[in-house]
Amino acid sequence: MSFKYKKGGSLIWEDNDFNFYTKIDGKEVFIGRGMNVPYPLEEGDCWSLPGGKTFVYKDGIISQVKSFGEDKKILKLKERLEDLYEKFEESYLYSDPLGFVHKAGDPKDIEIAGFIAAGFAFGGVSQILKTLDKIDKIVEHKFYEFTLNFDAAEGLKLFKNFYYRFIKEKDVAALFLVLSGILKKYGSIENFFLKGFNPSDLNLKNALVSFSERAVKLVDFSPVYGTPAPPEDSMVRFFFTSPVDNSPCKRMNLYLRWMVRNSDNLDFGIWQGGIQPYQLIMPVDTHIGRISRYIGLTSRKNPSFKMAEEITENLKKLDYSDPVKYDFAITRLGILDLCKKNVNEADCEKCGIYDICNQTLTF
Ligand code: SF4
Repeated sequence: MSFKYKKGGSLIWEDNDFNFYTKIDGKEVFIGRGMNVPYPLEEGDCWSLPGGKTFVYKDGIISQVKSFGEDKKILKLKERLEDLYEKFEESYLYSDPLGFVHKAGDPKDIEIAGFIAAGFAFGGVSQILKTLDKIDKIVEHKFYEFTLNFDAAEGLKLFKNFYYRFIKEKDVAALFLVLSGILKKYGSIENFFLKGFNPSDLNLKNALVSFSERAVKLVDFSPVYGTPAPPEDSMVRFFFTSPVDNSPCKRMNLYLRWMVRNSDNLDFGIWQGGIQPYQLIMPVDTHIGRISRYIGLTSRKNPSFKMAEEITENLKKLDYSDPVKYDFAITRLGILDLCKKNVNEADCEKCGIYDICNQTLTF
C-alpha cells in the first residue's frame, strides 16, 4: 500500500497499481481505480465501476448503493439518461419557460422572473411563453424593480383584463403583492425560503411546506381581494402549492432547480445560501410521471409529492449529487412530442431510451 487517507468516517487506501479500497460493513471493498474515484471526495459524490457497482460518499461514509433492480439495469438506465442529458442541452431552451428567464441578465431580475415563469409553467409552452411576454411588457423588463415598488391599486390597473386559463388579473396582482412583501421584508426570495430550510434535511419537503404557508400569510390581501387573507378559492394559492396537500409541487420544484443547480448552462445556481443540489426534488408533471413509469423510476400512477420523492430517490442511484439534472432532458420527450401519450412504434424506434422503456415490450 502506498497511500492512505481518512475522509469522514471512511479510511481509504491505494495500492501501487492505483486501486482504491475502503472498508464497508467491516469488509475490504475495491471502490475503483485511478480516475474512477473522485478525489478529493466531497459530500454527495457518486461513482460507478465498469462491473456495475455504484458507490456514494454521504454523511462522511462511503457506502454501496443498493440497486432497485440488478446493477446492470441501473448502469444501462444511467447510460441512456446521460446520453439524453447530453443531447438536450441549452440549444433546446427555446422550448421551455426557462428560456424566457435566460433573457433577464441581472441575478435579482432572474430570481423574480424565474418565480413568475415557473408559476405559469402549466399548459402548452407556446401559450406560456406568450403570457410571460405579456407580463414582461407590463413590468418593462425590470422584474426586481417593478416587484419591489409594486402598488396593488396601480397593479390592478396594469393587469386589467389579464388572464391565463384560470389565473385572472386579481390573482396575478396578488402574486406580485406577495413577492413585493418578500423583497421588502427579506431582501430576496432565497432569504425568505431559507427561513424554513434545515441544512440537515434529506430534501426540501419541509422547507417547501414552510415557504408556502408563510407566503400566503405574509401580506394583507385587502387591496386586491377585499379581505386580509386570500379567499379559499383564490388562485394566488395556486402559486404556493404545498406537499401537505400531496401536490407534486412541480412548479415550485422547477423554480428551485433553476435557482440551485449550477453545473450546466441550463440552470442558474444563483442561490448559494446552503441548499445542495442533492436536496432538490424532481419537478413532476404528467410527462415526467408517465415516462418515469415507462423506465421504472416509479410504480405510482398519478403525479403526487410521493411520486416526486420516489423518482428523485431512484435518480439518486444514478447521480447522488445531482438527481434532478435529468429533468430537462426527460421533459423534452413529452414537450417536443417525441414520446406521445399513445405509444407509437415508429416514434419509439427513434427514441434514445428505447431499450430501457417497458412500453416497447408490447410491440
Ligand atoms: S421508447 Fe417510446 S414510449 Fe418509451 S419513452 Fe421513448 S417514445 Fe416514449
